[in-house]
Amino acid sequence: MLGLWHKIRRTGRVAEPAPPPPGRSGADRPPAAKALGGSVQVRYVDAGSCNGCEVEVGSAFGPVYDAERYGARLVASPRHADALLVTGVVTRNMAEPLRRTHEAMPAPTVVVAVGDCARNCGAFAAGYGVVGAVGDVVPVDVEIAGCPPRPEEIVAGLRTLTGR
Ligand code: SF4
Repeated sequence: MLGLWHKIRRTGRVAEPAPPPPGRSGADRPPAAKALGGSVQVRYVDAGSCNGCEVEVGSAFGPVYDAERYGARLVASPRHADALLVTGVVTRNMAEPLRRTHEAMPAPTVVVAVGDCARNCGAFAAGYGVVGAVGDVVPVDVEIAGCPPRPEEIVAGLRTLTGR
């Protein structure tokens, strides 16, 4: 953290340089995202993670990786959201809240499964409190692999939604 602070003071620059844009043709955008235009409002749900993915999602939206500069913004209510970002396996206690959050979003909705637990139960497969992966509860449009995925990979996945 101290190193980052010195870097900011030395260069006057907070964010990392922008990586190359996703394909301009939009071919890599999920079909549901094509109605979004250049921005996406994101509701975030932890369905039962170990907290590792949360740290990386926090970094992806922090000042260094800054997902907002590509049009992805966190919102507090599913009623304001286009996309549902989900981390972790879906636990028994979180299956119904996840389903209800998805139902509360205005259509069309996009669901992003972040991390291996969200994609395929990862390290928690066959756990006693596990209902399944995110795709077993709500339809998933984008998967971001990793345990946990790096912030760059989370930002890259969000950029497939915004096309920016
Ligand atoms: S994918 Fe890895 S870091 Fe993310 S919730 Fe699962 S075990 Fe934790």
